[in-house]
Amino acid sequence: MESINDKLEKIACVIDIQGYSLHGKFYARELSIVNDEICSTFNVDPEISLTDDSLNAIYYHYQRIHGLGLHPLKNVFIKNSTLEMFIRVITDMLTSEDKPYLAVKNHQLASLLDEWQIKYVNLESFEAPSVSQFTCRWMCDLHENKRPQMRRCALRKSISLWIWINQKI
Ligand SMILES: [Zn+2]
Repeated sequence: MESINDKLEKIACVIDIQGYSLHGKFYARELSIVNDEICSTFNVDPEISLTDDSLNAIYYHYQRIHGLGLHPLKNVFIKNSTLEMFIRVITDMLTSEDKPYLAVKNHQLASLLDEWQIKYVNLESFEAPSVSQFTCRWMCDLHENKRPQMRRCALRKSISLWIWINQKI
């Protein structure tokens, strides 16, 4: 049977997303990809149609969760509706026979990858550290609102998890 280390050694990169959970659906707003060669984070247009009953939830995410404004201000290459295609391209580009897996630690992203039937390693199963255990607390430049109590930056989480994987193997 494959050991934990065997599995971790087959990880090509870590990906993570942040966004908005509204009415049982997830809308991506930040996508990050990290390995030894790539360390990138992307604005994603969440393509949310505003309704009166979504305003409070959107404001809550902005003020309390991640501080990402609803409408990305610049460099928007990816939309929520093209996220699957983009992640498929990344998977094709970065994975190989030796390293066939993306790694994630994010139940919303894991559900999407399940739905799209994209192979991944779920770091929840490997006792990977949670966001609150990371010692660094910076947020990347995409976050307009950087209150000290907010911890959700997809780039910081991806980098921290990639470092953790490399310390384990
Ligand atoms: Zn970020």
